[in-house]
Amino acid sequence: MFKPHLIKEDDLYGKSGYSLNHLTPNVYQFYTAGPGCHVYLIVGDELNVLIDTGIITKFNSFNYLLVTEIGLKLEEINLVINTHEHFDHISSNAYFHCITAAHRWAAVKIQYSDELITKGKKWGVDLTDLTVNIWFEDRNIIDLGNTILKVIETPGHTSGCICLYEPFKHYLFSGDTLFQGRITNIYESGSISEYINSLQILNTFKIDSVYPGHGNYIIGEELVKKEIESSITNAKMELETFISRIKTRPLEKVKIPPSLYDRKEEDL
Ligand SMILES: [Zn+2]
Repeated sequence: MFKPHLIKEDDLYGKSGYSLNHLTPNVYQFYTAGPGCHVYLIVGDELNVLIDTGIITKFNSFNYLLVTEIGLKLEEINLVINTHEHFDHISSNAYFHCITAAHRWAAVKIQYSDELITKGKKWGVDLTDLTVNIWFEDRNIIDLGNTILKVIETPGHTSGCICLYEPFKHYLFSGDTLFQGRITNIYESGSISEYINSLQILNTFKIDSVYPGHGNYIIGEELVKKEIESSITNAKMELETFISRIKTRPLEKVKIPPSLYDRKEEDL
């Protein structure tokens, strides 16, 4: 039976690069402890798919490991899928001249360079002029030949978050929706109630392995279930704490938030 293992730590770019893990016979993980996110490559019989492109400062490391360890060229990647619209997941998109896909609520923000949400400028990355060719909706299917990816809408962290589920091999690319040992942050355009609902939807799937955008992967159906359920509990607690704080606050002291147009650039 195939066991996930480390192929190589980047010996050229060192700590500023990725470590390459082999997760299943045709799934590779470009792992980073940060900054940036993990990048996943699925080598298909008919399509090679990249899940998130990662932070721009690690692109050279990605390309180096792709060519030397996997034996693929950049041009052999046929499809890039962004799990959501944050800069650390999309900022190397410009290096790929293939078809790009994201959920429609992520696609619209990427395509309009919505800095308030993508936060590229804040982190010194130019995210203007990115194009998303395919705008996903819930339950879209991508057939790679030997692997199927099913799009699951999981808004919460942002509104455009998706997870990608392999319905026969039972693994899940969870983006920034499900992590090991912690719940996600809710950012602009996100919502904690949508996040709770998304986790409850994930809890209806049979998932044996979770490959997240950050942190450790989770292997084992029971462990995955435990992680989903504790995330639901913790997210509900966070929401309840917030609600009880609001309830005890006198109405006249509630400040109206500034309109988007009044925000200063430093707020982005
Ligand atoms: Zn994110």
